[in-house]
Amino acid sequence: MQDLHRYIRDIPDFPKKGIVFKDITPLLGHFGSTTQAVAQMTAPFKNKAVQLVVGIESRGFIFGSLAAQKLGAGFVPVRKPGKLPHKTIRQEYSLEYGKDAVEMHADAVAKGQKVLMVDDLLATGGTMDAACSLVRQLGGEIVGIAFLIELEALKGRQKLPPGIEVHSVIQVK
Ligand code: AMP
Repeated sequence: MQDLHRYIRDIPDFPKKGIVFKDITPLLGHFGSTTQAVAQMTAPFKNKAVQLVVGIESRGFIFGSLAAQKLGAGFVPVRKPGKLPHKTIRQEYSLEYGKDAVEMHADAVAKGQKVLMVDDLLATGGTMDAACSLVRQLGGEIVGIAFLIELEALKGRQKLPPGIEVHSVIQVK
């Protein structure tokens, strides 16, 4: 077992002052650690009959695609506004200052499909909560939410839909 912490680099004041950015590119550059990270992210959901993995732009695409392969599921991207070419649905969410939104193709999830949600990092939870709303609008059944990293101090879990298993591989105090 690798110590995955070693492959995550803290970048102070990026992209703006006061934020400590968790840079996962060293982990991605190391085959064994990426494989282990995805194995640990998906482990609790192996027997949940996951049909689709939904990953959030942009680092959620990397872990989400690998998780989908691992679970034998399809992959669905959730993107920033205006990026997806076909008919979309949109969910807005609040940021510390202002608003943002995420979009998904309107035909990406069928009613009743079992979905695992994936992103690289849980901070305040706003992004993942909005992505979960998109899946539910289309009638998808969310069977779990997986992150590589959870910034526990921001209490993002409390913002996520209740009653769904939330799993993170690395917890940062
Ligand atoms: P939030 O909606 O606050 O939970 O933010 C989660 C999203 O923002 C994820 O897609 C992360 O990739 C990104 N993010 C937020 N904070 C950080 C951070 N400190 N380091 C790296 N990515 C971050």
